[in-house]
Amino acid sequence: MRNSILFIALVLIAIPLWAQQPPKDARTTELWSPKPVKITPGTTFGEAPSDAVILFDGKDLSKWSSADGADAKWTVKDGAFTVLVGSGEIKTKQTFGDIQLHLEWREPADVKGSGQDRGNSGVFFQDRYELQVLESYSNETYVNGQAGAVYKQYIPLVNATKKPGDWQTYDVVYTAPRFSDNGNLINPGRMTVLLNGVLIQNNVSIWGTTENQGSPSYSPHGKGSLKLQDHSHPVSFRNIWVREL
Ligand code: MG
Repeated sequence: MRNSILFIALVLIAIPLWAQQPPKDARTTELWSPKPVKITPGTTFGEAPSDAVILFDGKDLSKWSSADGADAKWTVKDGAFTVLVGSGEIKTKQTFGDIQLHLEWREPADVKGSGQDRGNSGVFFQDRYELQVLESYSNETYVNGQAGAVYKQYIPLVNATKKPGDWQTYDVVYTAPRFSDNGNLINPGRMTVLLNGVLIQNNVSIWGTTENQGSPSYSPHGKGSLKLQDHSHPVSFRNIWVREL
């Protein structure tokens, strides 16, 4: 008897709740604009999509300059370029905010040294935030300084590096930090990184400008160059392109 009363009570509560549900119409959740721009994706490994800004196509460093604005001096050979040790960093003449980046890099087959002194270079976003390049296939160092680290900030999720002498790929989604008109940080920068097709940084929130010593912090800035580090090691690069987001 008590169960019957309980059942009837539940039905009496449920009927009005059911009656209040709006009519279902799949179209109410369909979006038809803005329509994504149609592009042609690359069909093979390393091929740039049609809307990419090509930063190195294997021929010359015309899209790059030295830190002082002079021509980039790194060595171009066989469709790639290599750090000319001692000539300093190089940076893109064009500046960027949010980008998708594709870049291929290679450690020398006869790489020498150990720790941070082994195949060290780096990709700096907006001149400031370093994604580490290092020989990390057979090399011990602090883990937030190995290849794929957002230097001194984030350890890569896995070590997906290949052996020295093999070409490796970085694919990065980079979101620039946002600042208010009076220079306060609104949103930190973010990075998602795939190394050789493997996710190693998952939308991490950048702490500030890369620092070797001390804590990172932010200073307001606008668009910035993509910069490659001369850390006194002959690391090579090829096939570099970005898509502005
Ligand atoms: Mg470095």
